[in-house]
Amino acid sequence: MSNNDLITPGGKLRLYVEAALGTGLRVVPGAPQAHYLMHVMRAKKNDRISLFNGRDGEWSAQVTEVSKRSCSLECDRRTSEQIETPDVWLCFAPIKKTPADYVVQKATELGARVLQPVFTRRTNVSRVNLERMRANAVEAAEQSGRMSVPETREPLAFEGFLSSWPKDRRLVFCDEGGDSRPIAAALAAEADQSFAIFTGPEGGFDPEERAALRSKSFVVPVSLGPRILRADTAALAALAVWQSVRGDWR
Ligand code: SAH
Repeated sequence: MSNNDLITPGGKLRLYVEAALGTGLRVVPGAPQAHYLMHVMRAKKNDRISLFNGRDGEWSAQVTEVSKRSCSLECDRRTSEQIETPDVWLCFAPIKKTPADYVVQKATELGARVLQPVFTRRTNVSRVNLERMRANAVEAAEQSGRMSVPETREPLAFEGFLSSWPKDRRLVFCDEGGDSRPIAAALAAEADQSFAIFTGPEGGFDPEERAALRSKSFVVPVSLGPRILRADTAALAALAVWQSVRGDWR
């Protein structure tokens, strides 16, 4: 840390940008980020922050120009090489706004690479706000020290989701039915490296969906214990177990 570092409660300010990062490269933040930097963080010329873009690692950058509405930064040195999160996706039936925000933020902290909404029969939410999902993911990535933002995908309908599934990726189906293997044991027994967690809506999966899932060779049905968890709890609990059995919590 140096005197010019801009500090947030979580440490040195980190921002996700799309621009390429490299020695001497200039980065001009978009309007919302410029506003945040100048009017919330009160950035001045020569202040320093960290930048990441999901490709080029993490860079220390200095504010070189500040005007009323915009500012620019210049990268000086790379402080970390690009580190990828382990290969796990979260596929989930959309839920109401507040828990949805929460799931996206927490799944980002828990290291999910892809967030895939799936409309199932009992899903009682009619649309997904992808822009909002993306904004939540960016903010959580910035705060958690991640060097990438999870990819937020367009929602799919259950049938299309299942038929277009990449067969080399295990789909860990969180099955509230009670007769599936406990998640930790089921994950420990798998040889594969690529996984996705799949959780249902508030009303659960319907029996036909459950049967369709259980008939696929790439599906690993798992139990999250004897209590029925809310959809948001189930998604985050499953990701946490995955990180400790297969991911970077080992
Ligand atoms: N209303 C449903 C519960 C849905 S819970 C019912 O009473 O059956 C929402 C989702 O969380 C479920 O579809 C499942 O994917 C997951 N889930 C909740 N509790 C679970 C458990 N104990 N084991 C596995 N998955 C669970």
